[in-house]
Amino acid sequence: MQIAPIPTLSDEINDIRLRTADIVANRIIPNEGTIYAGGDKSKKLRKEINEEVKKQGLWAPHLPEEYGGMGNGFLVHAYMNEILAWSPLGNRLFGVIAPNSGNQKILVKYGTDEQKKKWLIPLINQEMESGFSMTEPDSAGSDPRSLTTTAVKEGDEWVINGHKIMTSNGQRADFLVVMCKTEDDEGGEANQKMTQIIVPTDIPGVNRIRSVPIWGHTGGDHMEIKYENVRVPLENALGARGSGHQAAQDRLGAGRVYHCMNTIGQMWRAFDIMVKYSTEREVHGGKLESKQFIQGFIADSYMDIQASRLMTIHCAEVMDKEGDARVDISAIKVFVPLAGGRVVDRAIQMHGWRGVSGDTPLAGMFQGFRTLRLADGPDEVHRILIAKEILKKYHDGLSWDFGV
Ligand SMILES: Cc1cc2nc3c(=O)[nH]c(=O)nc-3n(C[C@H](O)[C@H](O)[C@H](O)COP(=O)(O)OP(=O)(O)OC[C@H]3O[C@@H](n4cnc5c(N)ncnc54)[C@H](O)[C@@H]3O)c2cc1C
Repeated sequence: MQIAPIPTLSDEINDIRLRTADIVANRIIPNEGTIYAGGDKSKKLRKEINEEVKKQGLWAPHLPEEYGGMGNGFLVHAYMNEILAWSPLGNRLFGVIAPNSGNQKILVKYGTDEQKKKWLIPLINQEMESGFSMTEPDSAGSDPRSLTTTAVKEGDEWVINGHKIMTSNGQRADFLVVMCKTEDDEGGEANQKMTQIIVPTDIPGVNRIRSVPIWGHTGGDHMEIKYENVRVPLENALGARGSGHQAAQDRLGAGRVYHCMNTIGQMWRAFDIMVKYSTEREVHGGKLESKQFIQGFIADSYMDIQASRLMTIHCAEVMDKEGDARVDISAIKVFVPLAGGRVVDRAIQMHGWRGVSGDTPLAGMFQGFRTLRLADGPDEVHRILIAKEILKKYHDGLSWDFGV
């Protein structure tokens, strides 16, 4: 990993990037095999790395200082992510463990003091696990307004009924943030009819049906859950009644930038592995690097990574200045995982059998990038949003300004 200070960034961000890179390159990547193997040695290593990260003040970049996080804001976290993602263990060992991290952010923003004490603090202290339960098997996940899970007020309780799918971390979770329809009146703004409600998993009616296998594995713990007459106190609503859609947008907007910076970090590692291998592997009387097909792979991958990186940084900067980043967020959400798929596909091809084996991290990256084209809104929905926003400008007699 070659990381030098970036001249246009502040000393603070450069210092954080360099110290993050030092831990990822020297403590995490060389020990990936041992950490994945589990057991006492793995536990000891994880603990040592966690302590080093905390000592250096790099723990939990997504959280404010008062909750034990770095408190350096959105841009610092985005720039750290492209380095953390070099290892699939990076984020986790720096205290950013999805989907808990997303729920922590939502609880920080929308939680009452009581909710913070009961759910947020144990989540931060890793005494609890959580999940986010929105997608349903029988309604379009890409159109959350179509969801059918209801929460009906009865006395001082919500009564929840519905069927959810792909609730990640659902089996391990001590509580779930469940997206429910709370308003049943006709008319009115569809986006204001949903509320997120905190549901502990150990109460009657939370029926976990199965873990949905993804790419043949159930390790992701993506659960199908039926909520059958689940009763929780009214104070379990997260934020004001009807604010669920807005809260989900808050969660997903920044999350998409982090996912893209993660994808860029992985593409960067795939590129590094690919270029090194091309200088070592002998085929048909010459090194791979001497073949023009392979030179094309390297050049095209460079362009894919650099385009993805600049688009994502531009988007992060617009968001950091609280500008309107809707088009940029959707653009990176479509472009970056597609570009990631192209880069890792070339790296796999160049590695022959090694590319699809467990001897390189490439196969895992390939599956991750493909999956990302569905999660957090499928490509088509983002493309529609981009076109809609651009066309709106032209209908208003304006044109699109790429400079802002
Ligand atoms: C690994 C993984 C983890 C996930 N984790 C969670 C989680 O923790 N919690 C959670 O709630 N959900 C989770 N999801 C679900 C994810 O958010 C949904 O899959 C996603 O929102 C899409 O919804 P859907 O699958 O119901 O697709 P649908 O809405 O049924 O859409 C199907 C397809 O139709 C196409 N399409 C949709 N709209 C249009 C349109 N207007 N024009 C043209 N084509 C269109 C798209 O290609 C889309 O992929 C996860 C998904 C994956 C893959």
